[in-house]
Amino acid sequence: MRTAIVVGAGIGGVTAAVALQRCGWRVTVLERAPELGEVGAGISVWPSAVAVLEGLGVKGVEKVAVRAKPAGMRKPDGRWVVGAAELGVEIPVMIHRAQLHDLITAEFDGPGHTKPFGMAAGDRRGGVTVWTGYEVVGVEQDGEGVVVNGELRAELLVAADGVRSVVRKGLYPDYAGPRYSGVSAYRGIADVAVDDGGGETWGRGQLFGFARLIDGRFYWYGTVNQPPGTTSEPTAFASWHAPIPQLIAATETVLQNDIYDLTTPLVPFVQGRIVLLGDAAHAMTPYLGRGACSAIEDVGALARHLQNASDLTTALAAYDAERRPATTKLVKRSRSIGRLSQTENQLLRTLRDGLFGIGGKLMSLRARK
Ligand SMILES: Cc1cc2nc3c(=O)[nH]c(=O)nc-3n(C[C@H](O)[C@H](O)[C@H](O)COP(=O)(O)OP(=O)(O)OC[C@H]3O[C@@H](n4cnc5c(N)ncnc54)[C@H](O)[C@@H]3O)c2cc1C
Repeated sequence: MRTAIVVGAGIGGVTAAVALQRCGWRVTVLERAPELGEVGAGISVWPSAVAVLEGLGVKGVEKVAVRAKPAGMRKPDGRWVVGAAELGVEIPVMIHRAQLHDLITAEFDGPGHTKPFGMAAGDRRGGVTVWTGYEVVGVEQDGEGVVVNGELRAELLVAADGVRSVVRKGLYPDYAGPRYSGVSAYRGIADVAVDDGGGETWGRGQLFGFARLIDGRFYWYGTVNQPPGTTSEPTAFASWHAPIPQLIAATETVLQNDIYDLTTPLVPFVQGRIVLLGDAAHAMTPYLGRGACSAIEDVGALARHLQNASDLTTALAAYDAERRPATTKLVKRSRSIGRLSQTENQLLRTLRDGLFGIGGKLMSLRARK
């Protein structure tokens, strides 16, 4: 049986493990966190990523997903810039991250979750083995495959270890690395009953969005411009339209993350038998809501090429040729949208809101035709 190591058990890593397992590989997932899981926040999942998950046999996505109506964009005082009825665009479903992660890992077929070195040699029966609390510090390649931390060997290594990827650093010591976007994001889950379809509100250098989850709670996110490493509270939204202050007040745990992306494209995503995917390869700002979806789509492409290509080298080259241009565009587009949504310039904001309003009206006219 062919063997693969996946570094990182985020959404990209666990999806890769399921895909490799389905392609007949024996997979070991190495995760440095003590437990498997995801943070307490929601995630928008686009139809293309849902299709990949379903193609991999991940069941029940539709049962945990909320297919919201497009809600549009408001100003902080509550006036609509683009109303719900005016948007006729494709929209993603909203899922709790932990639920999505659980659905994916439920497809693992194997000895299950173990502590590092919890199993004797030869005890592995195929499927997926997860080692939590295991930090990868070094990866080497030789003629036969890949060696992790000088002790674990496999034919293929999938690096899904996120924006600060250790594997990427080892392979590309001169690469520019993650760049701070100037923006810090808050996220939370509010346990409150409000009668609002959600949507986004764009202010002066600040943005807030929210959407209902399947259990009736609301996932919300907010972004502010500030120097990296500044710990702060989402007080900037205290005077924004209802129900924004109520959502924040009804949130037990507010997460805060400084937003970094890989502004300089990484070239290529593959070196020998090591393949990078997800944020490790193309971390993007969250304005398109496509980072995790892109990781899932990376996996879809990787699995397809592994199944169809005559050998591993050809499959990995085809993966790189397909996913690098597609994700490079998304990283760039997301950064541009971020600049527009976070602008503090009054003239630009007026222009932006005016153009969005006109755009919405045109889309609405086209939809009616
Ligand atoms: C505010 C915000 C909102 C977002 N909203 C959306 C959205 O709505 N839709 C969407 O598609 N995307 C969204 N994203 C982006 C999305 O969260 C990321 O793109 C996605 O989580 C990346 O998944 P990943 O598996 O590539 O990496 P990660 O989720 O970063 O996982 C990497 C894993 O590797 C582990 N790891 C790291 N280093 C090591 C090591 N040396 N050894 C072992 N393990 C290691 C980490 O512990 C982690 O578990 C958002 C991001 C933010 C910040």
